[in-house]
Amino acid sequence: AGAILSIRNLKADIGTRQGVMRVVDDVSLTIGPGEAVALVGESGCGKSMTALSITKLAPERSVSIVGGEVLLDGRDLVPLSRSEMQALRGNVVGMVFQDPMTFLNPVMAVGSQIANPLRRHMGLRGARLAARVHELIDLVRIPEAARVAKSYPHELSGGMRQRVLIALACSPKLLIADEPTTALDVTIQAQILDVLKSSLKEFGTALLLITHNMGIVADMCDRVYVMYAGRIVEEARVEDIFARPQHPYTRGLLASVLRHDRPPEALKVMTGSVPNLIAPPAGCRFRPRCPNAMAVCATDPPWMVDDRGQGAACWLNSR
Ligand code: SF4
Ligand code: MG
Repeated sequence: AGAILSIRNLKADIGTRQGVMRVVDDVSLTIGPGEAVALVGESGCGKSMTALSITKLAPERSVSIVGGEVLLDGRDLVPLSRSEMQALRGNVVGMVFQDPMTFLNPVMAVGSQIANPLRRHMGLRGARLAARVHELIDLVRIPEAARVAKSYPHELSGGMRQRVLIALACSPKLLIADEPTTALDVTIQAQILDVLKSSLKEFGTALLLITHNMGIVADMCDRVYVMYAGRIVEEARVEDIFARPQHPYTRGLLASVLRHDRPPEALKVMTGSVPNLIAPPAGCRFRPRCPNAMAVCATDPPWMVDDRGQGAACWLNSR
């Protein structure tokens, strides 16, 4: 109760020439008001598919939800049409994806694009509207606000476009961000994350951050879900995931991250890759790569929650 986003037992399929892939397999996830939650995993593990199925942004017919619920502020999004979903965008849910051009209108000045949801959803007009647009442009630290407001997206750099998108997307109750800074260089990345953090704080917006970057998770999030081969394998508070990861996949992910507190020779890269989801391994899907695999792992591991509230799907935890 009170969750801004509550995904329950979501299942989504993709049809390919080789067969049907269950890319989201019984995923449950909740985000409280104002909470920042990360969904992490390697590429191809189903994180983006989860975001696309929530937001109905996937190309028509490519991903189909075949089970479960996605409650956004108490309302189930699964039965909504794309146009009904569109109406919620900018109002209840904002989105920032890797390529801002997907969400920016190429033939409209960015000031007008920032103004649109404020007019539509907040009823702002005239001088109050203009003042709010400038406040937002300031908030995301765009220099020369007046000039930028009159510019078209193609006239701006990648980092500037991402700032515009954040200004556009931050006022709803939930922001979904999928690798928002991956395409940007490291300095700009840090600036954008900073802007994102302060904007979320200003509006009390909750965040679902989809990333493979554990450093960004540590910096931005309160809680984290780890996804592997279409399933959630671990859920924990951010400090617990770094201090005491329970699932061998999570340990592998953390070990492949270069950390300041360890010498570079400690950097280990996980071997193998995410399995083909047309014919996933039976039982635990991490089994072919897991250093701890046992005979019992050929059957589905149970989800176990410890006394700190940290959950993992691994046979190691049930002994
Ligand atoms: Fe490894 Fe078994 Fe745990 Fe899977 S269930 S992560 S194979 S120990
Ligand atoms: Mg992705």
